[in-house]
Amino acid sequence: MVARVTLELALRKEFDYAIPAEFVGRVEVGTRVKVPFGHRQVLGVVTALADDSAHANLKAITRVIGTQSLVTPKVLALARWISDYYCCPVETALKSVLPDSVRKEEEGWRERLHVHALPPPAEFPKLTQRQETIWRIIEEWRELPLQELLRLGETTGETVRKLEDKGLVRIAPKVDERDPYAKEQIVATQPLPLNARQSEALAKIIAATDRPAQNDGPGGGVPAPAFLLHGVTSSGKTEVYLQAIAHVLEQGRGAIVLVPEIALTPQTVERFKARFSSGPQQTLVAVLHSHLSSGERHDEWHKIRQGRAKIVIGARSAIFAPVDPLGLIIVDEEHEHSYKQEEAPRYHARDVAVVRGQREGAVVVLGSATPSLESYHNTKRGKYMLLEMPDRATEMKLPVVRVVDMRQEQLRRKGPPPIFSEPLKEAITQRLERGEQTMLFLNRRGYSTSLQCEKCGFVAGCPNCSVSLTFHRAAQRLMCHICGHEERVPTKCPQPQCGNPAIRFSGVGTERVEDTLAKLFPKARVQRMDSDTLKRKDDFRRILTDFRMGKTDILVGTQMIAKGLHFPNVTLVGIIYADMALHIPDFRAGERTFQLLTQVSGRAGRGDIEGEVFVQSFTPFHPAIQYARRHDFLGFYDQEIEFREQLRYPPFARVALLTLKGRNEEKVKFTADHIRRWLDGHLAGWTDLVIAGPAPAPLARAESFFRYQLMLRARQMSRLSSELTKLQIGVALPEDITLTVDVDPVSLA
Ligand code: ADP
Ligand code: ZN
Repeated sequence: MVARVTLELALRKEFDYAIPAEFVGRVEVGTRVKVPFGHRQVLGVVTALADDSAHANLKAITRVIGTQSLVTPKVLALARWISDYYCCPVETALKSVLPDSVRKEEEGWRERLHVHALPPPAEFPKLTQRQETIWRIIEEWRELPLQELLRLGETTGETVRKLEDKGLVRIAPKVDERDPYAKEQIVATQPLPLNARQSEALAKIIAATDRPAQNDGPGGGVPAPAFLLHGVTSSGKTEVYLQAIAHVLEQGRGAIVLVPEIALTPQTVERFKARFSSGPQQTLVAVLHSHLSSGERHDEWHKIRQGRAKIVIGARSAIFAPVDPLGLIIVDEEHEHSYKQEEAPRYHARDVAVVRGQREGAVVVLGSATPSLESYHNTKRGKYMLLEMPDRATEMKLPVVRVVDMRQEQLRRKGPPPIFSEPLKEAITQRLERGEQTMLFLNRRGYSTSLQCEKCGFVAGCPNCSVSLTFHRAAQRLMCHICGHEERVPTKCPQPQCGNPAIRFSGVGTERVEDTLAKLFPKARVQRMDSDTLKRKDDFRRILTDFRMGKTDILVGTQMIAKGLHFPNVTLVGIIYADMALHIPDFRAGERTFQLLTQVSGRAGRGDIEGEVFVQSFTPFHPAIQYARRHDFLGFYDQEIEFREQLRYPPFARVALLTLKGRNEEKVKFTADHIRRWLDGHLAGWTDLVIAGPAPAPLARAESFFRYQLMLRARQMSRLSSELTKLQIGVALPEDITLTVDVDPVSLA
């Protein structure tokens, strides 16, 4: 027998290896193996089996990893699709489908010694008093880890061994599963009676999952409908997900729930674990995300592979979880850009979910309060079915959103714009008086975002990147948020011919907001949450727990606090600078602003008291701001889609972004021009293709690499993908220049 193996070397090629007698029966499609390649041992995946090979003198597989094939044929097929569509070698795609700890078998199951009570012999042995005490503990527990027993009994291994000698207990190693949520208290919950909108949505999803499985295997049958659930924040989408999952479990199938990494809070996970912790549909709920230790990830993944965890909740890469058979995929907050992986394979987990659902006959539900233009457009084209939940599930109304015109505030003050407008200050004061909580949002960390000299115009910039340095006051350093470069803060303008001592900080970051709050409201308990305050593993949980327990009055934060959090006592949300996302050079700037404002506003008034939101803006009449103020997604969609159509941006075209990087700007530019000529030559006559560039990228220099871009737009991506793969294989690049191809990019930086 011969195994065809894809190696982790991105060679776009498969190699044949002999299966030695010792491994016969253990190697199948999807098995991970180690094989000799040149002078090295390399990891790979078996992608096919054959009776013989066209090559003579095959080398043999040296190791088989794991007892079960790790990449199921279905996931393997999905990896091939990713390779074709996202223009990357299949080896690269395969790397993403398994967590590292499983892929490299760096981790195994953790075994610990357990002590088991044996049935006592007819003639009970004589015990010392010490042994007697220990035996009582074991008898009560029946079985427990040795370490635990030593701790409980305040005893030594010696005493326990004596009990073993007397035939009362057995000491044996046992797999001890790591449970990342072992410390959480899970209280079982029951399904809630649904309101009319929820029932209607659930009924449609259930009807779809009830269709006979016609589509077992790629290519055949009628695909399952894929749904878009458009429900305002707190409309009860999660409850619908939970009940839909219960239904597919009844059918003996499993479910994958994707949640953006930052919304994957212990709170979210607990809701799913609690519902399925008991009762007839009890199952393990596995969790996959980047904050787990690699050992935890190993155990969680294998619980799924063994079929013990039928529900998986996780971030982006959980879309590859080996749930089989799969009945339902939920992509919550489907518009989130974090579903896109920003390194190869540059896949979008939402889009992979739709493809996987089609191939495996699973129903896909995309949920959002602010659907992406692409997904909503798909409902208009009849590609997705639209489910709407326009009201909050409880009696609560959506919060009142007030837009504050910061130009007026600035005029009133006759100075630089204030951080807090008068109305926002008043609102905060009120909340403090009433003992209610406030969240303040600014998507920029640090104290000041730039350091300038007013005399000569000098701006402190990063030596490696085309951005200015941010002043961090606690650290007393200037820092680059792209490459991490740090330097000390100059006391005068560093330009040799200037030396002006009056250099000025400008632009506000979260650190400054926190600082200003302390001055304005000295009694308020303020906590900041951004990547600077999250240094240790549990900081995230600690800050949120303190806030939930009312130990904090005001929580200031970046996008980390924008999503998924549910604090009933928050009645005020302030958005310090709403225009920030409008200024990014990206056709999605308006859409992002609308989404962010809506998400952040959704944090207010989730309890019994109505919420209020203040949006501070210098362009208060921008449509993204005005539609967000009125909670009017449709209004926003209608005007935005018109703009997209006129300019032929997605969803009316598919985009591929080519970026060339290198240390020598001339060479980067030259190579980019060469690629443009190649494209013009090879794709001549393709009428609906638009090629723009090359031009310097919006972030023209990063980590000392110059960056040039070409943007391609066409109606169909499949043909463009295959042409771009040809480009990658066919065009030789200078050694120090790299080309990345980003299909369906979410960011144009
Ligand atoms: P979403 O996922 O849309 O943000 P959630 O599912 O978190 O909304 O629901 C918001 C709140 O409403 C939660 O506290 C939830 O328990 C409650 N809720 C949801 N559905 C119902 C219902 N049918 N009856 C009563 N309360 C509900
Ligand atoms: Zn830098």
